Parts: sequence; structure tokens; C-alpha cells
Amino acid sequence: MAVDWRQATLTGWGRSTTVSTRVAVPGDDGEVREALEAGAPVLAYGNCRSYGDAHLPCDGRGISTARLDRVVSFDEASGEIVCESGVTFARLLREYLPRGWRVPVTPGTAFASVGGAVANDVHGKNHDRRGSFGDHVVWLDLMAASGEIVRISTAEEPELFAATIGGVGLTGVILRVAFRMDRVPSAFMRIREQRISDLDAYLTALAEAREGAAYSVGWIDALQRGARMGRGILETADVTAEGGLAGEPERSLRVPFDFPRVALNHLTVRAFNEAYFRRVPANGRERISHAARFFYPLDALHDWNRIYGRRGFHQFQCVIPDAEAARGMQRLLETVSAAGRGSFLAVLKTLGGEGRGHLSFPMRGLTLALDFPCSEGVSELMRRLETITLDHGGRIYLAKDSSLSAAGFRRMYPKLGQFADVLERWDPQGRFRSLMASRLCIRGLNASGSPPDGPISVKVRPTNLEGLSR
Ligand SMILES: Cc1cc2nc3c(=O)[nH]c(=O)nc-3n(C[C@H](O)[C@H](O)[C@H](O)COP(=O)(O)OP(=O)(O)OC[C@H]3O[C@@H](n4cnc5c(N)ncnc54)[C@H](O)[C@@H]3O)c2cc1C
Repeated sequence: MAVDWRQATLTGWGRSTTVSTRVAVPGDDGEVREALEAGAPVLAYGNCRSYGDAHLPCDGRGISTARLDRVVSFDEASGEIVCESGVTFARLLREYLPRGWRVPVTPGTAFASVGGAVANDVHGKNHDRRGSFGDHVVWLDLMAASGEIVRISTAEEPELFAATIGGVGLTGVILRVAFRMDRVPSAFMRIREQRISDLDAYLTALAEAREGAAYSVGWIDALQRGARMGRGILETADVTAEGGLAGEPERSLRVPFDFPRVALNHLTVRAFNEAYFRRVPANGRERISHAARFFYPLDALHDWNRIYGRRGFHQFQCVIPDAEAARGMQRLLETVSAAGRGSFLAVLKTLGGEGRGHLSFPMRGLTLALDFPCSEGVSELMRRLETITLDHGGRIYLAKDSSLSAAGFRRMYPKLGQFADVLERWDPQGRFRSLMASRLCIRGLNASGSPPDGPISVKVRPTNLEGLSR
């Protein structure tokens, strides 16, 4: 049966950039190849949980993996699972947690697909101990630009494998992924929450959590200045045998409409932050909670991105290496609070080291994520945050990004030249294109990561910044 193309409007979780294009939803390898051979540039995408434009096609069409959703095999002895790239973390949780298996690494939303997790080399709340998702991949089946299906791993076509892990969809369509699940004794976690008074105390507490807990994640009150700058709540967690494997019934709410712009302002964010800080008693607390609640707290509120209003928002997430983290975080927080734009979702985590991919985000250091509603002056703030990140040897995360400059990107990702060489070999015509690749001039770089003389092979055009979807 011929693959069907339909008109669709695609956006990211931040809703700041929107693309109207034709998309196919192939159900097997043959239909993916047909979609690939349709003539226009293409880009595979999963569940559109990237915040910016990493998954948005550029001058071409989209290939949704929604129907590539089969689990091919599962080995109860080794925990190795082979699944199609459209399988979501929610499905893996629902079907495998009651049997005592859980993914080794998960992002903060269960709506992400396995293909998206590979292509962004996502990290979780245990990066220090377990690395990112790509570290657990045994092999991948990739459909390259030629239509050929290549099985890739650290042993087979290792350069293409390294380019595909974190490769933001530019090396081909990931069809199947083999990775190992963890055996767990129960569906529950033992969680400790403690109030943190300021940034220095946070750095000390995170350094201890890195050594002492399996999982850790911090919320920060990004509006505080002076002595209370960096105050927040640190959550640490470990697997527990208590509670058994039976899951709790899922309860979730939905945000029914786009909040008006005035709803989210300095005063409401300040009030939210105060209440959120005080919800944990001064001497902390400990509880047992279902794994889904710990890993995916935001998923309990469907469409929470509508709280930022119709114009959407930008997320900024960077990592600053350990040696520079104290000074870098201080400058970032000072800049945000001075701009009066403290975001209520401000997350601080530690990362353990570099990923396997040429464009993997992690490095050993501290990562900070902040949301800013699209409004006047936000682009300028994002530029300042980019500069501070660069000053301290840090990196901005492509999965969240919508505004990084091409020059900044080149300085942050030192293996970009190797990545571009792989694209040149496997996709010389530039069949796989995204708005992000265009914005960051990812193609047309030579082995040293600098643009060659002459025009680059993908047209650069201005994207979003203050929001096309206004
Ligand atoms: C609430 C929330 C919390 C999050 N928390 C975290 C977190 O803690 N850690 C973290 O690392 N990330 C986090 N993220 C980001 C998210 O995990 C990533 O953006 C992830 O890639 C989304 O998966 P997706 O299926 O929606 O992929 P999409 O967003 O649709 O696509 C992501 C990238 O993968 C490519 N891609 C997708 N499928 C394929 C395929 N089959 N073949 C080739 N390329 C493909 C796309 O082209 C794109 O470049 C969070 C996002 C949200 C909304």
C-alpha cells in the first residue's frame, strides 16, 4: 500500500516555532523507504517532546514514527529488549514495570519515544551513575539516505553509530533499537526531600548526592537574589524493595486552555516559588512513591505547556563543567533574577561525563534548565545566557534549544567536524534536514568544525525567537 501524506502543523513542546508541512506515518520498513524516496528532504520525528526545532523538518516533509510501535523481542534472562523507534517510555513502564523491569535511563517525560531518546541521547536523574540513554544501546537499525538499512553499534560502522546517538535525526531514520533494561525489586522509590538555603549549600548537597544516592534532582527558586540566591529543594532517591510491583492507578489532569499572558508574571511566579519551597518541612521529609511519580512528575498535568500562553516559551538548558560550576551558576542566576524573569520550572542536576555521540550533550558538571515565556526581551536574555555558558566552557542542550547561535554551537560541540564528515559520507545530498540544522549551520562544516569556503549546503533562514505561532 502506498504511503499516505497528509498536511500537518508541527511544533515543539515550547510552542515557539511552528511548521506546516506534509507528513507520512509509515508502519513498516517498506513504507519508511517509500516516504524517504518521495523526493523532498525529510526528517523523522517521535512525539515532539523536544522544546524547540530539533524535530521540525526544513523545506521538506516529516516522517512520524507513531506507527513504528512494536516490541520485537525481550530476553527475560539478560533484560535485552529490541523495539521499534516509536515505542514510548510510557508503554515500557506500563508493560515491563509490573514484570520487574525498568529502563536504565529516562528523561523527565514518559511521552518521549525510544527513537527520540537515542537521537537526543537523553539523560535522567542518574547520569552520574548510569550515563545517558545512548550508553545502554547495544545496536540500532538505521535507514540511511540511500534507503539501505544498516545495523550499527560500537563494533559495526562505529562512526555512523557515534553520529546517530545524539545526532538529532540527521543521519537517517532509526527503525529499531536494542538496549538493556534494569531488573528492579518493586515499582516504588524511597525519596528524600530537603530544603537548600543558597547556592553554596546547593553545590555541597549535590556533591554529596552524587556519591550517596542513585538519583538526584533539584528545583531552584530562580527569582531569589542576594543571600537567598540558589535556594531550593533537593530530591534524592533510591530503589526500594517495599511496595511490590503492582502499579498505582494513573491519575492525571489536563490544562484545558492557553493561560492568558498576564497569568504568568513576576508576582505569580514569586508566590508559586514561595509555596513550592515551603511545601517541604524545614527539616526535610522522606516518603515512598511510585516510580512514575518520581520520574515523570510533570506528566500528571497534561498539556502543562499551555500555562505559558498561546505564544509559547523558550527553554534554556546548559551544562557547566565542575571546575567552573560555582561561578557559572552564580552568573546565570544573577542574570536571570536581575532580568526579573525567574522561571517556575528551574531544575538543577549533576551530569557524570561525556556521552558516546558526536553531539551528545552531557559533560561532567552541573546542568541548569529554565523556562521563559515568549515575550519582548527574551531573545536578548537567551543571548546573554549563551555567552555566560561559553565563558565557563559549558554547552547548551539541543533537545531544549530554539535560539543558540551557529557560532556558539561550533564552540560548544568540539566533535562537530567528525559529525559533519559522517553526514558527508552517508547523506551527501542532505536528504535529512531540520530547522535546527539549518539554524546552526550543521552541514557544510569540515573536519576542524569550521565552515568551508563558499556557500554552505543548507539554506539558513531566520527562525522563531519571539515565536511564529503568535
Ligand atoms: C516535560 C519534559 C521533560 C523532559 N525531561 C528531559 C530530561 O530529563 N532529560 C532529557 O535528556 N530530556 C528531557 N526532555 C526532552 C526529551 O526527552 C527529548 O526531547 C526527546 O528526544 C523527546 O522524544 P520525542 O519522541 O518526543 O522526540 P522528538 O522531539 O519528536 O524528536 C527528537 C529528535 O529525535 C529525532 N528523532 C526522533 N525519532 C527518530 C527516529 N526514529 N529516527 C531518527 N531520528 C529521530 C528528531 O528528528 C529530533 O531531532 C524533556 C521533555 C519534556 C517535554
